[in-house]
Amino acid sequence: MGLSDITQRIAKAESAADRAPGSVTLIAVSKVQPLDRVEAVLKQGHRVFGENRVQEAQGKWPDFMERYEGVDLHLVGPLQSNKAKQAVELFSTIHSVDRPKLARKLADLAQEGGACPGLFIQVNTGEEPQKAGVLPDEADAFVAECRGMDLPLLGLMCIPPLEEEPSLHFALLAKIAERNGLEGLSMGMSGDFETAIALGATHVRVGSAIFGERSQG
Ligand SMILES: *Cc1c(COP(=O)(O)O)cnc(C)c1O
Repeated sequence: MGLSDITQRIAKAESAADRAPGSVTLIAVSKVQPLDRVEAVLKQGHRVFGENRVQEAQGKWPDFMERYEGVDLHLVGPLQSNKAKQAVELFSTIHSVDRPKLARKLADLAQEGGACPGLFIQVNTGEEPQKAGVLPDEADAFVAECRGMDLPLLGLMCIPPLEEEPSLHFALLAKIAERNGLEGLSMGMSGDFETAIALGATHVRVGSAIFGERSQG
């Protein structure tokens, strides 16, 4: 538990997979956590954080960003088109692009503002009806559609079904990324980030194993 434990485990997993030290980015997912726990991690020098709601992030991060230099904020949760403008202003990276309407909106904002966050396309690898993400069969076409809009695609993201072996989902995501020439793989959470690193994750999204259990969400 805690930041240093997780960074050590990431370093070990990188080495076990013959991957370069530092090739995996740790996104500390701070959603719903008490501010003092988040600030403790900032004080330890960590700067890459993830939130799953635009509004919650807007309430907490502008103040932290004034007091701590170099904060790099990632949106890991679903994004509604009508919140896209606010998201683009706050986040360096969005991990949840999953439909043409949102892609179009982000492309329009990029045209107006001259910049766009780095983007991951979320893939619903478990084909769960309640879950966001494009279906695996639709991923290639959606990647091409986003490229047609000149969006800065970094890679793919998935959240495996709770009850299934995550490695099958990580391997599927890696395969789809590879055949589309995408290098980024946003996969792995508190319970399975080492497995994700073995299968090529470039970004792991770890919350409770750093900050402690969440009281909600
Ligand atoms: C909450 C969340 C995480 C972190 O989950 P933990 O199990 O607490 O590590 C990762 N990714 C997404 C999309 C999340 O919403």
